[in-house]
Amino acid sequence: MPELPEVTALVADLGARLAGRVVDRLDVVSFAALKTFDPPASALSGQTVQGVSRHGKFLDFEIGSLHLLVHLARAGWLRWRDGPPPPPSGRPGKGPLAARLVLDDGSGFDVTEAGTKKSLALYVVRDPAEVPGVARLGPDPLEPEFTEEVFAGILAAAGRAQIKGVLRNQSLIAGIGNAYSDEILHAAHMSPFKPAAMTPAEVSVLYTALNDTLRGAIARADGLAASELKAEKKSGLQVHGRTGQPCPVCGDTVRQVTYADSSLQYCPTCQTGGKPLADRVLSRLLK
Ligand SMILES: [Zn+2]
Repeated sequence: MPELPEVTALVADLGARLAGRVVDRLDVVSFAALKTFDPPASALSGQTVQGVSRHGKFLDFEIGSLHLLVHLARAGWLRWRDGPPPPPSGRPGKGPLAARLVLDDGSGFDVTEAGTKKSLALYVVRDPAEVPGVARLGPDPLEPEFTEEVFAGILAAAGRAQIKGVLRNQSLIAGIGNAYSDEILHAAHMSPFKPAAMTPAEVSVLYTALNDTLRGAIARADGLAASELKAEKKSGLQVHGRTGQPCPVCGDTVRQVTYADSSLQYCPTCQTGGKPLADRVLSRLLK
């Protein structure tokens, strides 16, 4: 799933391409993806793009006095198109194409979603706060308001909840998902199962790891034409998606814990005192 660093890269890239351009139309190919009906997608036609920004993992295209919000979900991406779109092929809504923004010269971008489980979401609204997922977002880690004190307060309030879930809870902190929560905890040398309420010294370590991890990922994506890539590209990951491979820090084997619809990765030596965590799915099967 594209997370804060990848969405930030898309915002920078698309903002430069789109600002001041006139929208010809938004073609919605997957009707299930469009979550709003008033104003209609046709209201974007003839309007000028004012800018592109981000709320957590949501992209926000300000078009005229309206906003087109895109949540890329698990397997969505947004790809720049230099010329007019080819005529649609196949059955609408069955392929990866969810929607297509067409500018007055035919260029624009395609919103696609891989796989069969479709959860990508589009919204045409007057105010981004009309989107429930945006309205309930917690503070954004890149904003100056996200101080160590604010972070400490979030962790203290979460109490015994496991830190892994707290980091990726969008209403507590905006923009961090499964991949970067794994990376942040690895950088902080903390177990994903550690309770969120921790000592001030631990909060400090985790706060630094969070900032370094996200800002490092953004720096690596800088200058990359994100919308020209075929799919999201995460580079420099230490543990996430690297089960069975050596930890780049200590050489131990990266392990995972699997859940019904996701998994987390960690390094036992770096994060859990060398002790493997119980893999819930596996231990349930072995019972
Ligand atoms: Zn390690």
